[in-house]
Amino acid sequence: MTVRTRIAPSPTGFPHVGTAYIALFNLCFAKQHGGEFILRIEDTDQLRSTPESEKMILDSLRWLGLNWSEGPDIGGKHAPYRQSERMGIYKQYALELVEKGHAFYCFATAEELDQMRAEQQARGETPKYDGRGLLLSQQEVEERLAKGEPHVIRMKIPEDGVCKFNDMLRGEVEIPWSQVDMQILLKTDGLPTYHLANVVDDHLMEITHVIRGEEWIPSAPKHQLLYKYFGWDMPVLCHMPLLRNPDKSKLSKRKNPTSINYYKDIGVLPEALLNYLGRMGWSMPDGSEKFSLAEMIEHFDIQRVSLGGPIFDVEKLHWLNGQYIKAMTPSDLLNTILTWQGDRQKLEDIAAAIQPRINLLSEAVNWSGFYFNHMPTITAEQFESKKLSSEQVRQSLQFAIWRLENLFTWNNDTVSQTLMDLATQMDIKLRDFMPAFFIAIAGSTSSTPVMQSMVTIGPDLTFARLRHALSIVGEPSKKELKAWEKLNESLKMPKNSTNENAE
Ligand code: GLU
Repeated sequence: MTVRTRIAPSPTGFPHVGTAYIALFNLCFAKQHGGEFILRIEDTDQLRSTPESEKMILDSLRWLGLNWSEGPDIGGKHAPYRQSERMGIYKQYALELVEKGHAFYCFATAEELDQMRAEQQARGETPKYDGRGLLLSQQEVEERLAKGEPHVIRMKIPEDGVCKFNDMLRGEVEIPWSQVDMQILLKTDGLPTYHLANVVDDHLMEITHVIRGEEWIPSAPKHQLLYKYFGWDMPVLCHMPLLRNPDKSKLSKRKNPTSINYYKDIGVLPEALLNYLGRMGWSMPDGSEKFSLAEMIEHFDIQRVSLGGPIFDVEKLHWLNGQYIKAMTPSDLLNTILTWQGDRQKLEDIAAAIQPRINLLSEAVNWSGFYFNHMPTITAEQFESKKLSSEQVRQSLQFAIWRLENLFTWNNDTVSQTLMDLATQMDIKLRDFMPAFFIAIAGSTSSTPVMQSMVTIGPDLTFARLRHALSIVGEPSKKELKAWEKLNESLKMPKNSTNENAE
């Protein structure tokens, strides 16, 4: 048997370091067994999936050197590798399960299900699908299908007992069936959910080992049952520990930048980031801290993964990166720096921005430094404003982060429009609103036009700097955060429909 592993990202946002982490361990496991590592795009969530996100994920994994031997960009014997291009495949499998009596139709409307959950909650129960579709007679189902009534297909789940499955790192895991929902397999629009598409594709693509994050453990019983229903062998499961912030909470962008592009932008080397990810819960047998991907593959042993939540500590990553930089020849370092900031378009954008402001070429250095820096040095005093309260400044930064995070396209028009709308809605003149953004991004109010600068440095550095600024002027407390979320939403509504009670 050839070992085959996969990374199966959903293209719904920026490329997350957690994706690279899981990809790395899948790659090492496959290569160490002389097997194959493949990439599949799981874009069944058509509302949230974007081609831009898919491109960023593929580019950043490739930048890291995590190469796959089959995937949407290079094809392979099980093509296509993008689930949106495989939509014709899944329905027949859902129907097969209905035929075999393992799945059933449900015609309940969203309102009905909301009411069901509300009643369950009122009784103090955990909301859960109550199996109402199972009560319909065969005849009724046929009639309602013939009438074309909207429906889903759900899988049957045993009413009692315990699901047991094996995990390469955890041994036997037990989850009571009472905690498992009768999962929807096929949605009203006839498209599969993650669970159906994932199981069908892992089977068709001959995946032998599923190595993924521990957040997927609750899905394992459903998957195991689906394999059983279909009569297929289940791949071996392995749930990796989640990456954590230094305070042990789940790695989150509020506390730590999580986008691979951010680390690329600040000048982390791909081999150093991979090396650092390789040390998340795993270590070389000789304990060495600096190792290459080839060395990791050579010495890889999945059993050496420890389940204590690995801490993703940015300081340690920077230190390790320094080790790589110090080991280079000056000539290699120069080449590396030139490649890092060698994007001609970016350099030209910077030239255009500083052109009206300089008389001597030497002045370019001071005017353009912040485009390349990691974080400007800033103090809380710089944000003090004669026109705005400190709360307004803090809110403007936080609201801007939230709104900019929702942008699908990052360009001058979208970024400018977002900030100008926010200023208008907060009833603040643009000239009073903008200084905080100049300081956050460029470290000073005398700089090149800040909205354009945000476009040039890109979303990842922009968010990191805005978050840093917020931490300097005072991050919102939990209570403030709740009130601000409401306020931010209510500001977006036309004035006359604003809810008067909104805080
Ligand atoms: N598409 C899922 C994700 O985004 C894949 C989970 C799995 O590996 O089964 O993480």
